[in-house]
Order: sequence, then structure tokens, then C-alpha cells
Amino acid sequence: MNILDQTHDQFAESFFQRYGKRTFYSTPVYHQVMHCGSVDLDRLSCFSRLPALAGQLRRDLVLDTGRVVAQAKDHGVVKFITRLADGLDIESVIIPMFRRFTLCVSSQVGCRMGCRFCRTGRMGLLRSLTTAEIVGQVHTARHRLGVDVRNVVFMGMGEPLDNLDNVMQAIRVLSDQRGMDIARRYITVSTVGLIGGIDRLAGMDGTPVNLAISLNAPDDTLRSRLMPVNRAMPMAPLREALLRYPLARKSAIFVEYVLIDGVNDRPEHALAVARYLAPLPVKLNLIAYNPAPGDAWKAPSTESYTRFRDRLVAEKIFVRRRGEKGGRIMAACGQLGGAAAGSPEQL
Ligand code: SF4
Repeated sequence: MNILDQTHDQFAESFFQRYGKRTFYSTPVYHQVMHCGSVDLDRLSCFSRLPALAGQLRRDLVLDTGRVVAQAKDHGVVKFITRLADGLDIESVIIPMFRRFTLCVSSQVGCRMGCRFCRTGRMGLLRSLTTAEIVGQVHTARHRLGVDVRNVVFMGMGEPLDNLDNVMQAIRVLSDQRGMDIARRYITVSTVGLIGGIDRLAGMDGTPVNLAISLNAPDDTLRSRLMPVNRAMPMAPLREALLRYPLARKSAIFVEYVLIDGVNDRPEHALAVARYLAPLPVKLNLIAYNPAPGDAWKAPSTESYTRFRDRLVAEKIFVRRRGEKGGRIMAACGQLGGAAAGSPEQL
């Protein structure tokens, strides 16, 4: 029984089915795992008179979050690499934001979307993560690295909507108030624009999570060059899906735009992006491209970045600058996947 892939009620049900015991026994176990990080049945008084059950539980309960094999820090951003049971590595990034910590989680090992500006895309898809492996990244950050993560963004390795069943179950587990207790308004799923997945996420039980869309181009021609997924799901039907997405009051769709020197950074590109986004409530995160060593593309100049941003702002698009924090340790946007974590600096 892997607790990390179950909500409180699911765990209570499977506990009852297996042992015939109700929440008087299962709730303290669930609480201990989610709030204290481990199971120590000796500290749960309800098991003191049931040594046989305690022994059986010790054999049955699985709490395998993988092994942290490297971590590195740059300007407060921490990247950690977790080795999973089958030997594959995933990367997660802790980002300090105001008084909260955000964890950028991976949903797959590699990715098959092939976005040309992304190192993860060059790996191809090795496999999707299980629910427990996704939730395990938050568990590791909180209980092994001691960081009180309160925001979760699905912007690490992988396309979350390409692993949607496990991602939706992870959202249920993470947002369970009797467990991890991360409110859904603090969870964001980022996608390249898999339209069927956006609609499924929109229809998910409970409060909708935030949605982020990776745009990166002003028109289908350029977007298809940068993001092959656009050939099958072009920008017009994508915008229809975004218009259908249920947003919480005063909320907006987050739009990610990676600005690449000489590729998608012209003023007319900014104007076309603004026109495309005009019918949508959006907040646009403008990210200067983070080149890796040997990369053919470059980051935009400060002048080009400012010109592009100002043009969007003039068209009444809300623009936020997304920093390049973490670039030194290959933890910035588009840099996850296969790179060494750099010189580990312990937390
Ligand atoms: S940007 Fe996201 S969807 Fe595109 S290849 Fe990278 S990880 Fe995959």
C-alpha cells in the first residue's frame, strides 16, 4: 500500500478493506506520513494493543520517494535530483517566492513533445511518473529538505497533460486538507496546449487548478517550428479551449513566452501575441531564453526584451518578468533534463 498515491478517504477505504479497521486507525497513519514525513507506529497509541496489526502494517506500507542523489543552489533556487526505484532520475526545483516556497515538479522522465527550446524535450519520453512519484517530490522537499512548500507548479520535466490520470490523482492527494493540504489555487498545471487534456482538467472534480500555457510564438508557422505539437493542435482551437477553461474569480490563465534572440522577439511578434490573447484573461510571464552550453540560440538583449515587453504592455497585456534564477545550475526554464546538478551546495 503506497500512501502517497491516495487521498485520505481512499486510504481509509483500502485500509478498511484490507484490515477491517476504520479511520480511528487509518487516519493517524495517514496524518503521520503526510505531516511528519514517516511512519512510526510505536508512536501511535491506537496500535499499542494491536501488535499483530502493527507488524502487518510495517510489512505492507510503502513510502518510497526515491533517493536524492544531488542538489545544487543558485540565488536561493534549489534543484534536487531524485533517483527512482528503476534507476531513472527526475529533477525538481524549489523557488523562493515572496514569503512562500514554490516547488516545480516533474510529471514524466523526459518528454515526447519535442519543444526545440527545451532540454527535456531532447531526451524523448522515457516514462511517465506514477502519482506517488509526483507527490513524492513534494514530500521530499518538505520532509527531507525541510522546505515548507506551499505552491506547486507542474512545470518540471514532462508534459503533465500527457500523463493526465496520474497528474489529476496527484492534485487530489496534494490538495487533500487531511494530508498535504495545498489549496488548489496554489497549484498550477502548465501545458503546451493538449486540447483534450485541457478540457479534461477543466471537468475535474472540485475546485479547478490554475492553468498555464506555453505559447512562445505569435502565429502557427513559427509556433509549429518551435513546438511540433502545434501542427496537430494549432492556436485557434487552443484559444477556444482556453476560453472554456473555468477560472476562479479574479484569476487568469498564465501564459509562458520564452523570448529567443532573433527568433520570436520582434515588435510585430509582440503585437500579434497581444491580439491573439486579447479575448482571454491572462498574465504573461516573459522569460528570457536560457541557453545551455553549445546552444545555437541566444538570450535576447536587454533592449530587445524591454522593447517586446513594452509593446505587450502598450496593448494592455499584463506582463511579468520571469527571472533567470537557477540558470547557473541548469534549473531555469527549459533547462531541466540530464544536466549535471553542478557543484552541490547543501541546504
Ligand atoms: S517545454 Fe515542456 S512540453 Fe515542451 S519538451 Fe519541454 S518539458 Fe516537454
